[in-house]
Amino acid sequence: MSLNWLEDQVKSLKEQNLYNNILTIESPIGPEIVINSKKLLNFCSNNYLGLANNPKLKAAAISAIKKYGIGPAAVRTIAGTTVLHKKLEEALAKFKKAEAVITFQSGFAANTAVIPALIGEGDLIFSDELNHASIIDGCRLSKAEVIRYAHINPADLEAKLKSADKKVKKMVITDGVFSMDGDIAPLDEIYKVSSKYGAMLMVDDAHGEGVLGESGRGIVDHFKLHGKVDVEVGTMSKAFGVVGGVAAGKKEIIEWLTQRARPFLFSSAMTIPDVAACIASVKILERSGSLVKKLWTNADYLRAGLKKMGFDTGTSITPIIPLMLGESKLAQDFSHELFAEGLFAKAIVYPTVAQGKARIRIMNSAGHSKVQLDKALKIFEKVGKKLKVI
Ligand SMILES: *Cc1c(COP(=O)(O)O)cnc(C)c1O
Repeated sequence: MSLNWLEDQVKSLKEQNLYNNILTIESPIGPEIVINSKKLLNFCSNNYLGLANNPKLKAAAISAIKKYGIGPAAVRTIAGTTVLHKKLEEALAKFKKAEAVITFQSGFAANTAVIPALIGEGDLIFSDELNHASIIDGCRLSKAEVIRYAHINPADLEAKLKSADKKVKKMVITDGVFSMDGDIAPLDEIYKVSSKYGAMLMVDDAHGEGVLGESGRGIVDHFKLHGKVDVEVGTMSKAFGVVGGVAAGKKEIIEWLTQRARPFLFSSAMTIPDVAACIASVKILERSGSLVKKLWTNADYLRAGLKKMGFDTGTSITPIIPLMLGESKLAQDFSHELFAEGLFAKAIVYPTVAQGKARIRIMNSAGHSKVQLDKALKIFEKVGKKLKVI
């Protein structure tokens, strides 16, 4: 079969400045990384707490490999699970002050696991219009009807819940921190509205874990909604510095997921070094909130500096800082100029964000030093002036 149509598609992406160039990193992920033998300041990774290359996580992974090997070698329901997997789930439940936790291979897998297990054909999902792609896919897999409500707008959610059939099963789903804008869902109000209309509530806290709440316990802790949000999905690929998905919540829900969540039943578990490293991450956060504090200090410093220069940093109130630029071409050019100056921060363009909302997304980390932040500010200023953004 001819694949000319694919060549045409790729060519068209390139012409529209929408082609994703995937760069090869030749160093560990940290505040600085090496690409094409060039050292760059890194403001791209979701490595909020700088744990991706943490010595304690590495040591935990190595010692677990020595003791238990690497692969889980099958799905957990058929071949059993390791003590480490159990230990991680207990540690996460304690950390999140949740009744129970189940882990998945990734946050993406967690969303496609949890949503279809809890809601299905003939039911209704109320979903924030800017929810993450993995939530959208989870909703599609569920076959429930999806009603999108206006972004972080509990009043619109309420209007939509109100006009829905009372007898139908309902679920409200929202991102906790929105990954492209860095704004926070008003989960307290969303909880009030959801419970008023008898809807289950699910939050995806991928960008809130390790960032919000006491010692990075996440958005449920931030709003003190323990035991009220039915299920909190998350990831260990961001602040935790490893990889893996989480669902935390009421024990009935977690138990049901072990019986009906398809990525749990039909896909092998996280690997042993990943699990061991995640346990080490949770321990670090349990012990001290200092990394979380440093992350926020860094983010506030960078944001204030950028704003003072005249950049538009959108609606973000978290360590995700979008530099709003508008057109894809400008965002791509901006990113290339930053790269030439020694700073890695990629352009985010359609379809990740809406057309005309292209941006540079700056990801902060507790790992950056003040000297690195000052160097970054100088580079942003230079490029901003050169491209007449400021
Ligand atoms: C990153 C992200 C995910 C996916 O997590 P992975 O562990 O990388 O698969 C899911 N939901 C949200 C909101 C995210 O930002």
